[in-house]
Amino acid sequence: MKQRLVILGAGESGFGTAVLGMKQGYDVFVSDGGKIKDNYKKQLEEWKIEYEESKHTEERILNADVVMKSPGIPEKAEMVKKIRKQGIKIVSEIEFGSWYTDAQIVGITGANGKTTTTALTYHIMKDGGMNVGLGGNIGKSFAYQVATESFDYYVLEISSFQLDDIEKFRPNIAILTNVTPDHLDRYNYELQNYVSSKFNITKNQTEDDFFVYCADDEITMANLDKYPTRAKKIPFAYDKEFAEGGFIKDETLIINHNQNQFTMSIQELGLTGRHNVYNSLAAGIVANVYGLRKEQIRESLSDMKSLEHRMESVAKVRNIEFINDSKATNVNSTWYALESMNKPIIWIAGGIDKGNDYSVLDPLVKKKVRGMICLGTDNTKLHSAFGKMVDILVNVTNMGDAVRMAYQLGNPGDCVLLSPACASFDLFENYEDRGRKFKDEVIKL
Ligand code: ADP
Repeated sequence: MKQRLVILGAGESGFGTAVLGMKQGYDVFVSDGGKIKDNYKKQLEEWKIEYEESKHTEERILNADVVMKSPGIPEKAEMVKKIRKQGIKIVSEIEFGSWYTDAQIVGITGANGKTTTTALTYHIMKDGGMNVGLGGNIGKSFAYQVATESFDYYVLEISSFQLDDIEKFRPNIAILTNVTPDHLDRYNYELQNYVSSKFNITKNQTEDDFFVYCADDEITMANLDKYPTRAKKIPFAYDKEFAEGGFIKDETLIINHNQNQFTMSIQELGLTGRHNVYNSLAAGIVANVYGLRKEQIRESLSDMKSLEHRMESVAKVRNIEFINDSKATNVNSTWYALESMNKPIIWIAGGIDKGNDYSVLDPLVKKKVRGMICLGTDNTKLHSAFGKMVDILVNVTNMGDAVRMAYQLGNPGDCVLLSPACASFDLFENYEDRGRKFKDEVIKL
């Protein structure tokens, strides 16, 4: 008899898993508690996949052999609790996809820098002539590609939610960019639960695999011994040196691997800022492990363009530069944004505060921020954190006012930086919407 695969959530990963399930001969059923987007509905119908929306019919779900839970669905959802109670196996899309491919996998997780490091690694491998697919936050889901493509390699961006239910998933190269508290609402407010999830990326790795991590990251380092791995460890860091690993010395990026040394001036990196030096080290390590030509790695690391909403330079008006870092939804990523600026900053911040502790930003704000625009429905925490530190602090409730006010406050030679350190849902649909509105308003100036 056919195995029954039930999929909770009909977004990109749900749809992709459904297609792969069909191809693998499962009896597939997709159930979404909310409305399914039209384009996914259409595609489900084209593939003749059974589905329901705005409800979960228990009889059609609790008879599953295996359930794929989409990453957006929390553990505390009623249906998930019932499935767990019945003892039905729950997997993520990444886990399920990995059962049906022999391709080599580079899996990238971390609190910040996943998308950038994934895009950069993919860029180098593709330019190096490898038959490689890109999965995760960008483009088609991994499962869908496993069903419809024939790549030899995949570079996958993997959120902690995708790692929660890992059974056999085993990346050949795993990257943990860093671990700073985020999404704790999904982990019972226990940092250790979130950390465990991240370290799942290396759980099934063997002696033939590689685990790449940031040796400057305190939480990673404090947990390395708690989650032993069989993989070969390759660290990267700023001012340390490794016989096997990546680091920076005298403005030069150095990667030592297998008695071989790769070097490149950090001035030549296409992605700027200290955080991107880390991301370039991580991606460069992968390229060196795969033995790509040094000249080509250098070229790819230098011609990479910054991604939308991540320290994206939008325009210069009256010699004031406008930078869109809307993707900075937590304090850590804003720290890197402020750190990387070497001109006076008019800083646009605010939104939904996820329990932020802003004090780590104090030294940078004191040194670099001339004026601050608080863009949120409730700015009280920003006021108490920075009110005494910056000369000018104003409240606005829409992007038009934010940009115009910033422009008025700015002097030639300053920059206006949108790096909110907060989620966007109070005033915007999501961080993309916030970033796009910022750019639209800048262009109107
Ligand atoms: P993720 O996919 O993990 O959210 P992104 O690459 O989309 O990461 O970057 C998210 C935000 O974090 C951006 O504001 C970016 O400038 C910043 N950032 C990128 N890489 C790092 C890093 N290695 N450490 C800290 N912040 C980073």
